[in-house]
Amino acid sequence: MKFGGTSVADQEAIRRLIAIVRSESARTGPPVVVVSAMSKVTDQLLRMATEAAAGERQHIASGMDEVLNRHLAALETLVPSDRRDVVAKQLAEQIDELRAMLTALSILREGSPRSLDGVAAAGELLSSRLVAAAIAAAGIDAVWVDARRAIVTDDHYTAAVPLTSETRAALAREVAPHLAAGKVPVLGGYVGATCDGVATTLGRGGSDYSAAIIGEGLAASEIQIWTDVDGMLTADPRVVDAPQVVSHLSFGEASELAYFGAKVLHPSTILPAVAADIPVRILNSRKPEAPGTLITARPPANDRPISALACKRNVTVVEVTSTRMLMAYGFLRRLFEVFERHRTAVDVVTTSEVSVSVTIDDNRRLPDIVAALREFADVNVEPDMALLCAVGENLRADPAFAIRMLAGLEGVPLRMVSQAASRRNVTVVIRDADVARAMARLHDAWFAATTPSVGVAR
Ligand code: ADP
Ligand code: ASP
Ligand code: MG
Repeated sequence: MKFGGTSVADQEAIRRLIAIVRSESARTGPPVVVVSAMSKVTDQLLRMATEAAAGERQHIASGMDEVLNRHLAALETLVPSDRRDVVAKQLAEQIDELRAMLTALSILREGSPRSLDGVAAAGELLSSRLVAAAIAAAGIDAVWVDARRAIVTDDHYTAAVPLTSETRAALAREVAPHLAAGKVPVLGGYVGATCDGVATTLGRGGSDYSAAIIGEGLAASEIQIWTDVDGMLTADPRVVDAPQVVSHLSFGEASELAYFGAKVLHPSTILPAVAADIPVRILNSRKPEAPGTLITARPPANDRPISALACKRNVTVVEVTSTRMLMAYGFLRRLFEVFERHRTAVDVVTTSEVSVSVTIDDNRRLPDIVAALREFADVNVEPDMALLCAVGENLRADPAFAIRMLAGLEGVPLRMVSQAASRRNVTVVIRDADVARAMARLHDAWFAATTPSVGVAR
């Protein structure tokens, strides 16, 4: 059971979490509880680390007080005084370590990915200590587990990759015995450590991924993602008014949606679930009785034209043109090698004879990438673009889907168009400024309760 930042944001949220854990324990036996940092804490920690790395020290003291006080305020109402001191001391020690780290970063002017991970990991270490104590205080036998001992990763700091067999062994050692003893293990998501024990993180939003890794490692019967929306919605609720809950999705559909911007799931979450064929459920911690979204290998058949829309905003299009590319094999290898060398993932690719367009959402290495590409091709960069993606297993059986989607976007300038060979998705790249109206139009056409508009839906 993974609870996101808003689901552990304060004492009320943690009370709801306890009620949910209690009823799940009664139903199926003790679950493993994975928690994110309290909402906004990770942002705050990373901001402070960046400031410290720039040599600015003035906000460290107040920032640390603020973070500690938020945890202590919740602790005070959730844990009775006779048990509170031990936990308060552990939280204070974690904050002391964090303060020392930030001070050291400011003295050294050091902001390496490794240092950022050391700072960011504190958010989940704090929240998991607090939640473990709160669950235990509510009379459920819960035990805190240090995620750095349970998830073993490589050393790609800020985007570490879990090592499967090492993690499996660590989970068997650190978590499974507690379950066998009838206890509820509580650990922070997002966080792991290298074989040498140095803290790492799995990338922003990575607590979902932690939950799935733990679910796979312990052969869970289900992976539950408890969040602040009713499930996977037919579109991003920040972009489209009143999207609906999708009751069932295939693993493939959920992966595509997560990859193309549905933030409710970290893009890697589905991989461990597929590997062990474990159902994933997305649920609302404010509305535990709502059915949510169930993601499985083979969901029941339905006749929706698509399952959901997703969008990824503020991506950059890189167009690489080379007249020498004509008939030249090896060009694509050379081109993608540049992105590989700079550890930058490419999302959408389209090609013509002399040019290749790709999109990226991580611009940090863009200047280096462009310089490297210019050694053998012309390069044109277009910022402020967005991906808009329609996903559904039923697209396979619908030869005219792409035509209707493009017709529905009439008047919106298209920059790239791509249909997957699996035909589970059709993706277009448009200007970010056009996303809201484009999404609204497609969403109205496919999901409005009223009759679908002519020419777009079936
Ligand atoms: P948590 O802190 O629980 O991990 P996140 O903020 O990471 O929560 O993810 C939940 C948010 O994802 C929702 O509040 C919503 O704004 C956003 N979101 C984007 N696309 C979708 C979608 N298709 N379905 C549901 N939520 C989405
Ligand atoms: N706290 C981390 C983040 O904000 C991980 C997560 O919430 O999943 O990115
Ligand atoms: Mg999240």
